Amino acid sequence: MNIGIEIAYLVASVLFIIGIKYLGKTKDARKGNVISAVGMVIAIAATLFTLEVLTLLEIAIAILVGTAIGLYYAQKVAMTKIPEMVALFNGFGGLASFAVALSDYYFKRDTNLASLDAINLTSILVSVLIGAVTFTGSMVAYLKLDGKISGQPITFKGQHLLNLLLLIAFVAASVLVFLDPSQVNYIVILIVISLLLGILTVIPIGGADMPVVESLLNSLSGIAAAFTGFIIGNSVLIIAGSLVGASGLILTFIMCKAMNRTLPDVLFKSFGGSEKQSLTRTKVGSDAEEVAMMVDGAQKIIIVPGYGMAVSQCQHQVKEFADLLQEKFDTEVSYAIHPVAGRMPGHMNVLLAEANVPYEQLIEMDEINSEFPDCDVALVIGANDTTNPAARSGEGPLAGMPIIDADMARTVVIVKRSLSVGYAGVDNDLFYMDKTMMLFGDGKKMITQLNNSIKEI
Ligand code: NDP
Repeated sequence: MNIGIEIAYLVASVLFIIGIKYLGKTKDARKGNVISAVGMVIAIAATLFTLEVLTLLEIAIAILVGTAIGLYYAQKVAMTKIPEMVALFNGFGGLASFAVALSDYYFKRDTNLASLDAINLTSILVSVLIGAVTFTGSMVAYLKLDGKISGQPITFKGQHLLNLLLLIAFVAASVLVFLDPSQVNYIVILIVISLLLGILTVIPIGGADMPVVESLLNSLSGIAAAFTGFIIGNSVLIIAGSLVGASGLILTFIMCKAMNRTLPDVLFKSFGGSEKQSLTRTKVGSDAEEVAMMVDGAQKIIIVPGYGMAVSQCQHQVKEFADLLQEKFDTEVSYAIHPVAGRMPGHMNVLLAEANVPYEQLIEMDEINSEFPDCDVALVIGANDTTNPAARSGEGPLAGMPIIDADMARTVVIVKRSLSVGYAGVDNDLFYMDKTMMLFGDGKKMITQLNNSIKEI
């Protein structure tokens, strides 16, 4: 291959690695995205010099259409719908690898059967399997997350056995392909099995675990792309695919750890949604004026955001609240960030960064928990499971999950619409503590009322 193209691929790969490094910190994430995007532009431009099948015009049209669709959806998508969008992206990534592997198979079968050697065939089969599983698995994840099909686990008797039989059938059909690579029928069987496996693996998993599954599928889409890179001899695809594969897997394990669940638990045991506790207790709500009077004397306040902040999109009002406190009462304000608050990793960081909250005020759970006993007010906004002391009890779906120690603060204020449970379906003792004031209502509405009351003090 042309040395210029190889050098361009090397530069692109280095930019991907630097980009990922920057993505590790909220402050630098935007920069990381831009650096990776520049790397991708270089990789695509270099690939255009190796045109083999399509003309430049055809590729330009494809790029234009793809860019227009990407731009439209990126602008239009609501923050709360990002997980659905990521599921679709993963799925199409898997589909692309699957399609490239298949086209390579057909091309070599028709032009040079001998080139379908063991290494080539192995790469094609792995790419077909992982690409197809990623595609149909991601589509099921998308439908579940978007509520188009039930988020409840869909299970039936003999499900695991069926999956095992399908895997065995895949291996058997693969052996037949190795024995006679010219037989398209075996490839068709492999495709059907792979597509089915993607559906059957994801349907028994509950909606609450879908973001973890998505991260795993994201990793798989990277692995499929890496194998496709081997098939077509493209080094940047191998490197980029491996980076996605590895980082997706690391993220999967970080999420599992933050939820105190193992990957096999996520894949084979249903969680959340279906086993919601019925609520028997009641609690009288407070009003914005009462809470404003109370925060007046507070020296240190920790804001604990959760999924409800994302739903009500009240991050700007929350920032205004923090600014008001700092300006009017010289209060020390910081934010406690749980690794799985919201519905995707980094959900809270992204929302608060959008509202220009200074990065140094966003403090990770492990670091901030020791500060709660010295904190006058913990203001919990739409967070539930991530603050639920039931996680310390060792029983129930939340058992062992590390939580934000909001209950250790002198006073707790909780903004949410009702006493209802969070994603894990577990009632929260924090709501009923004597020191807890419930501010019932939509996040944006209540924080706006609170800000107005503070302005009047
Ligand atoms: P939860 O899902 O536990 O609770 C969110 C709360 O927000 C609800 O109880 C709801 O109460 C409230 N709420 C909803 N809409 C509004 C609104 N408009 N205004 C105010 N409040 C609102 O949130 P957490 O962030 O604490 O926990 C996240 C959960 O998601 C965890 O169980 C975590 O394991 C799970 N998860 C997270 C992933 C991630 O990557 N972040 C991945 C997979 C799972 P009400 O209806 O009364 O208003």
